[in-house]
Amino acid sequence: MEALEELLRKAEAAHGHLCAGQVLGVRLAMLGCRRLGMDDPRGKDRKRLAAFVEIDRCATDAISLVTGCRLGKRALKFRDWGKMAATFVDLETGRAVRISARESSKALARTLHPEIEGKNKQQMLAYREMPEADLFEVQWVNVELPPEEFPGYKAERVVCEKCGEGINFRREVRRDGKVLCRACAGDCYYSVLKD
Ligand SMILES: [Zn+2]
Ligand SMILES: [Zn+2]
Repeated sequence: MEALEELLRKAEAAHGHLCAGQVLGVRLAMLGCRRLGMDDPRGKDRKRLAAFVEIDRCATDAISLVTGCRLGKRALKFRDWGKMAATFVDLETGRAVRISARESSKALARTLHPEIEGKNKQQMLAYREMPEADLFEVQWVNVELPPEEFPGYKAERVVCEKCGEGINFRREVRRDGKVLCRACAGDCYYSVLKD
């Protein structure tokens, strides 16, 4: 695994700036990989890892950068829970570890560097220095990952009987003998405007 400073440099380049969230995300992902025994997640271990992230903020980009898990590769799964946490799954062994940032780490960051002005700068430095045990909680967990969730999954594509759009990866809903997409089944985040 690359050193923290090297990963932070890459995270800054990829994300556009360095911030406390990046530092936290890089360290969170490094810890997750290390607990799974993966020292080269973007190299030799790249097909072995999937990551569930629970927040869509700066840390998400950092986790993706360290692990190489990306949405477009189906190796990054987003659960919109608004929590600074992520679970790393070893697809070979099924072992999974969830790492979450301790709520107390914010207050601790404030006390470590009272001389620095600005919360972000304070946290950026403190989150680099703090021991992992002060920053994170580690839980070994079980994640049910059916075949259609795996990165390389191939299956027939079905067509929604209502809107006619194709659906991949078994995301269809079967109701009253009909095959529907999730939108037509009522799980929709948009409403179509009439023109
Ligand atoms: Zn940021
Ligand atoms: Zn539909």
